This record gives sequence, structure tokens and C-alpha cells, in this order.
Amino acid sequence: MNSVTEIFGSMVFNEHVMKERLPAETYAALKRTIEQGRSLDRGIADVVANAMKDWAIEKGATHFTHWFQPMTGVTAEKHDSFLCPQKDGTAIMRFSGKELIRGEPDASSFPSGGLRATFEARGYTAWDATSFAFIKDGTLCIPTAFCSYGGEALDKKTPLLRSMELLNRQALRILRLFGDTQTAKVNTTVGPEQEYFLVDRELYEQRRDLIYCGRTLFGAKPPKGQELDDHYFGNLKPRVAQFMHDLDQELWRLGIFAKTEHNEVAPAQHELAPIFTTTNIATDHNQLTMELMQKVAARHGLVCLLHEKPFAGVNGSGKHNNWSISTDRGVNLLEPGDSPRENAQFLLFLAAVIKGVDEYQDLLRISVASAGNDHRLGANEAPPAIVSMFVGDDLDEVLRAIETGADCGPHDKVEMRIGVHTLPHFTRDNTDRNRTSPFAFTGNKFEFRMVGSAQSIADCNTVLNTIVAEELSGFADQLEEADDFEAALNDLVRRTIAAHRRIIFNGNNYAREWVEEARERGLLNLKTTADALPHLVSEKNIALFAKNRIFTEAELRSRYEVLLEGYCKTLHIEALTMLEMARKDILPAVLRYTQALADTALKKKQLCPALSCGVEEELAGRLSTLAGCLYDGAAGLEARLLAAKECGDSRAQADHYKETVFPSMQGLRAVADELEGLVAKEFWPYPTYGELLFSVR
Ligand code: ADP
Ligand code: MG
Repeated sequence: MNSVTEIFGSMVFNEHVMKERLPAETYAALKRTIEQGRSLDRGIADVVANAMKDWAIEKGATHFTHWFQPMTGVTAEKHDSFLCPQKDGTAIMRFSGKELIRGEPDASSFPSGGLRATFEARGYTAWDATSFAFIKDGTLCIPTAFCSYGGEALDKKTPLLRSMELLNRQALRILRLFGDTQTAKVNTTVGPEQEYFLVDRELYEQRRDLIYCGRTLFGAKPPKGQELDDHYFGNLKPRVAQFMHDLDQELWRLGIFAKTEHNEVAPAQHELAPIFTTTNIATDHNQLTMELMQKVAARHGLVCLLHEKPFAGVNGSGKHNNWSISTDRGVNLLEPGDSPRENAQFLLFLAAVIKGVDEYQDLLRISVASAGNDHRLGANEAPPAIVSMFVGDDLDEVLRAIETGADCGPHDKVEMRIGVHTLPHFTRDNTDRNRTSPFAFTGNKFEFRMVGSAQSIADCNTVLNTIVAEELSGFADQLEEADDFEAALNDLVRRTIAAHRRIIFNGNNYAREWVEEARERGLLNLKTTADALPHLVSEKNIALFAKNRIFTEAELRSRYEVLLEGYCKTLHIEALTMLEMARKDILPAVLRYTQALADTALKKKQLCPALSCGVEEELAGRLSTLAGCLYDGAAGLEARLLAAKECGDSRAQADHYKETVFPSMQGLRAVADELEGLVAKEFWPYPTYGELLFSVR
């Protein structure tokens, strides 16, 4: 097996395999479950499980696992073998419907933000039949949702599935209003572009900051960075090309549509873009992609860094979440159409996105909040922490015409009426030009660019689906009651655009003036995770999630706790790692070098008292001063870390890490980086930025 079409999906229990291996009725019942979200008939579970097991064993699998996505953001699995002992001392291979449908992992060590304490200690996993089972490392993996016994979500998949179901319901109401009686299902689709760094494994092993934290905590700027723009789309180095080739093969086996691979802006930075698919599958696939990137890198003597900011002063890594809404009949609802009716429908969906993004800016910001992503958002290469929307000049002109009821463009001397007039054609090029916008309309989809490279895309898509569904539901409520649909539609779109125009910004989001203008517009600027998170449990957001049954208030509060804790823990680990590196490696290195300088000076004097020792003395002097700063800085950081324990609740603690611990870390780093510039290479304990960024050939 080596042709791409042969290996593609060869490790997936997909529809093709199901059709081949399941009795016709079972297949039909399963397909209904998958396509229409019907609950699974227990009776067929045994048949499906048995067929899955036989297929998996033929492919060399010996174990199965319920594969799930706890709130840690990474995936979890607990492997059980198919082995089942018999009375006569032999064994058979078995996998029952019960084992397929439900699992009981020991849930106690996954974060629950107090949910398990409040409700019930155990958790269970439940099969998500809408995402195909697959084989990874000799194990049959069953994609599952992870809940408490009371049904509270303990993972990222459950709310995502709930939000997809919600959007389906509300979008269908809208489609019916436009006379569409055919569409049975509306899905959101996602294509996440994944950025990452590759560094040499041997160099990586020499840096505890990379090992513990996934990012460098110290490191002086190299003489050459990304200034020359010579890496972006440049030729692939042979080792990187081999890695990508290998990765593609692995991804294709799992049915993941890896499509484009290229170099990114920074040296050693790359990107992988898959072809878009249904959101929950795209989410599962992105988790698998991140896992496989790391595994495949190891085989090539490399390490894949998924952190949002592995190197200070060098471009960070994000994940562009391309998101759209489409029907089971293949119609993209965010694609402007050719007829007035299609355009009217498009404009209504667009209005829902505009209103949703404006009213729930905070939720979108929170959906990408993490200690790692804080280094990226607002830095000069990533979208700022301010959420705004880019629609492009052409579409903007249309929206203005609708809003003012004025002429649309110089040629159409008629009032723009939705549902009557055709939209002027806007070209795709026009919509894709602004690379600085955090949320850009790119012709027939939105590209949400704030997502961090290491984050699960489940969170941002749960928010996107929910807020857009919420607005669609409000629109449907109004339009279903209207006597004159067309007049009501016109009025609704016009009012919506007028009320939420402030969220649209087509200018340069990196410009300093935008920060000021955004403030004048009343837009939020939640700079750090600690600033953003408290908004999660505002009255407005609790109401949104509870009304739409995405999160109960208790679930939301538990997530808030998990996120706050995650932020504090990350900074805590980073601070401890810095202390260890500063005290055990950097300070001793500086002292050794200082001693070498002193020895040199002494020996020179012995040899000939007239020899000048100016360099040794001056260097030793500066090193001693800086060593003192490093020593004091470490002590200061340690004291502030200890003080974190005294903070009352998690929110106060997060503020403490942000306001007190983090600046102290920055201070310590500045001293160490200055020292790096002074200490001779043979004494410095770590590979430099230059070595890390330019060593892979
Ligand atoms: P580029 O951004 O390089 O111009 P594309 O716009 O074709 O390339 O696609 C970028 C990403 O957006 C890809 O991952 C692609 O699969 C995804 N994408 C394209 N169309 C959609 C859609 N309708 N829904 C979700 N994602 C999409
Ligand atoms: Mg893109």
C-alpha cells in the first residue's frame, strides 16, 4: 500500500468500511444516528462493536480506548485489551456494544473546577458516533464525550456538540423562512491552519525551559532573525521536507485531509493547513494532528514546539480557524449568492455574525485566552487582544448602503433593498487582503485568527456556534411573526448593522491609533488572560449559555475555575523553572567565567606586571554587577511566588501572577539575556536562539 488514495483513511472505521462490514439495517440505523443526530439504538451497538473489533484486529490492533478531550486541552485515553479470559485457560478477543457506547475512565485526576465535588465523583465517556473510530498505535480509538454522572460536561467535545446542534436548529428556522423546505441539517465547517516550530532534539534536551514549559524563558536575540523575510514560503530544508512527508502519510492514514505544508514567517517555523470539514471532526483531527506532529518529529531527531511563543522577539504561532456554515446539500450559507433571495439570506447570516461578535467580544477573547497566547495577542505580529471584524471595502459599501438606505455604488441609482436587488459582485481578493484583523470575512467564510497554536479549537467554535445561533434565534423570533417578511427583513438587517457597526474595522489592527479608536468605540481590550476570564461568568454570558443549554451556570463556573487555575499553574511552573535555571546554571556559569577572567588577569600580572588587565577587570566588574542583579532578581521572584499562596481566591491569585510574578520574571530574564551577551560561548550553559532557530537543515 503506498498510493495516497490507498492509504487515505486506511486506519479509519469510516462509512466505506461500515457499509462493507455491517448488515444493511445496522448500517442504515448507524447512518441515521450520524446524519440526523438520532440517539443510537442500543440493539445495534453490539453488532457495530463486533465489526469494529474484527476490522481493528485485522489491522493489527490489540486494544481499544475511549478517546476524549478533558479540559486540559489535550486528549486522554485509557487502553483496555480486547482479551477476554475463558474458563479453560484460553482467551478470546471481545468488544461489546456496552464497551463501545460507554466507558468509565478514572476521572479523578482530570480538572473539573469543583464540578465533581459538587455533583458526583465518577465520570463516564460516551461514544460520539458522528466522529469515526480510528486505529492509532495498535489501539482502536473511539471518539467520546466525557461527562459526570449527573450529565455535566467535563470535556471540550460535549459543549461543542451541543453548540452544533443548537446552530443546526436555529439556522433551519431561518432557512424555512426563506422557503427552503429541503435542507435537513445545517453544520458548521472548520479548516484550522496550524503553525509550529521544529527544533533539533539534541539542542532541545539541553534546555529545561523548553522541556518543562515548551518555550524559552531566557535567550538573547540572535544576530539574524526573520528580518530578511527569507523563510516564508522558502524552500524546505531536506530534514523538514522528510518530516512533512512522513507526517502527511500518518495524517492521511487517519483520514485527515492535510493539504498544504509550507514555511512560515520565522526561521524554523512552519504551517500545515487541512481541507475543512465538519467542526467536531475538524476538532478531533486537529488534536490528532498536534499529537502526530510531536511523534513524527521525534522520529526525525526533531522536536515540534506548539507553544504560542517559543522564542521572544520572533514570530509566534497561531491557528487560523476558518469557519463557515453549510447545509447537508452542500450550500455554503456564508457565500454571497447570485440571486436576490440568496443574497438576502446571506446578509441575514452575516448580520447574525456581526451582532454576535459585537455582543460577545468577551467570549471570543476568552475562548483563546491562555498564558501562552498572552505573549502573542497584542504583540506586533499577531492580532491584538481587541476583537473586531474585517468585511472588506466592497462588502462594507453594501452594508453602508443598506444602513442608510442610500444608493449602492455610483452605478446603481436605486435604493438598496434586500431581497429585491442583487448584490454587486465582490471579488475574493478584496476580502482577503487584511492580514491584521482578528476576525476576517474571506469571501465565503470567517477566519478567526486569535486562536493560539497549542489550543484546542473546540472552545472558540463552541462560542462561535453559540453566539451566531443565539442571534439567528432572535432573528427567527422576529421574522416568524412578521406580516410582511420582506419589509421586516430589510428593517431587521438595517437596524442590526446600524447598532453593531462599531465592531467592523477594515483598517490596520496593528496600528497604535486603533487601540485609541477602539476605546472610543467602546470595544473591549482584554489584554491578558487574567483580565479576560472574569467576563466568562458575567450575567449576560451565564444567561446565554444556560438559555441555549450549552453550559449550566455550574458548568460555566467550573470552567472558569479550571481556566484560572491553568493560568496560575502555567506561570508558576515557568517561574520555578526560571529560578532553577538562573541559580543552578546561569549564575554558576557567570561565576566560572568571572573566575577565568580573574585567573587570566592574575597570571598576566605574574608574567609581566606591566601587562594591561583592563578588559578582564572591566568585564569581571560588569559580570559581578549583573550577577548581583540576577541573584537579587531570583530572590525577589521567589518571594513573589510564595506570596501567591496568600491570595484569597483563584481570581486574586491570577491577578497576582499577572501583576506581580510576571513582571518579576521579565526582569530576571532581561538580566540573564544581558549576561548571555557577555559570557564566553564555552561557559554559557544553553544553546542560543541562533543555534535553536538555524540548526535544522
Ligand atoms: P488561503 O487562506 O491560503 O487563501 P483557503 O482560503 O482556500 O486558502 O483556505 C484556508 C483554509 O480555510 C483551509 O484550511 C480551507 O480548508 C479552509 N476553508 C475553506 N473553505 C472553508 C469553509 N467553507 N469552511 C471552513 N473552512 C474553509
Ligand atoms: Mg489563512
